[in-house]
Amino acid sequence: MSFEEERKRMVEVQLRGRGIEDGRVLKVMGNAPRHRFVSKEHEQSAYADHPLPIGEGQTISQPYMVALMTECMELEGNERVLEIGTGSGYQVAILAQLAKEVCSIERVEKLSLKAKEILTQLGYTNVKLKVGDGTKGWKEHSPYQAIMVTAGSPDIPQSLLDQLSEGGRIVIPVGGSFSQELMVVRKRKGKAKTRKVCGCVFVPLIGEFGWKQ
Ligand code: SAH
Repeated sequence: MSFEEERKRMVEVQLRGRGIEDGRVLKVMGNAPRHRFVSKEHEQSAYADHPLPIGEGQTISQPYMVALMTECMELEGNERVLEIGTGSGYQVAILAQLAKEVCSIERVEKLSLKAKEILTQLGYTNVKLKVGDGTKGWKEHSPYQAIMVTAGSPDIPQSLLDQLSEGGRIVIPVGGSFSQELMVVRKRKGKAKTRKVCGCVFVPLIGEFGWKQ
């Protein structure tokens, strides 16, 4: 099967088949070349139903989790979005097709540089990447209409709530260092309203307002 055929099947079976309904999300997941964001060694499993290693002890999330989190962002196209945990850059590529601008922070420089290289090759121009501690957010470009954290956090960092615009959403896995609950936090009149989506497993968010080393 070609990568394109595998991708189509992934969208039908893993995403639509499990309840992802947002047509824009399904469309971009059907377009983005996920196999380009993993090493040659893992290319053949790029569209399989599980996360994959991307080096430095980190992972690219399972396609379903990427789709679910993206759907929870409720993007319409005009938003400035912040992602914490660039990793391979795959989630950035998905968000960049659904929002106006994507800012993403990664603490491991090597991963950020690799992500930058591939995103540039693929021609994404509405993306800003930075190396640093994402638990502090990225004040310079705030406020953000939506924020996604792709690593597991002990709680919801206040710094991210502060950089979220009124009515904005934070999609974040919250819980222990081995398993978490995916939460959607909505900012209404300055206060956070949270909703639990499902259980999940992410690598830890390490930083000043996350887990300590
Ligand atoms: N979104 C990624 C998956 C990332 S895995 C993708 O599409 O491939 C989580 C990433 O979060 C890892 O690369 C890890 O290094 C990074 N990370 C952990 N703590 C962080 C922090 N405080 N700031 C920025 N990145 C962090």
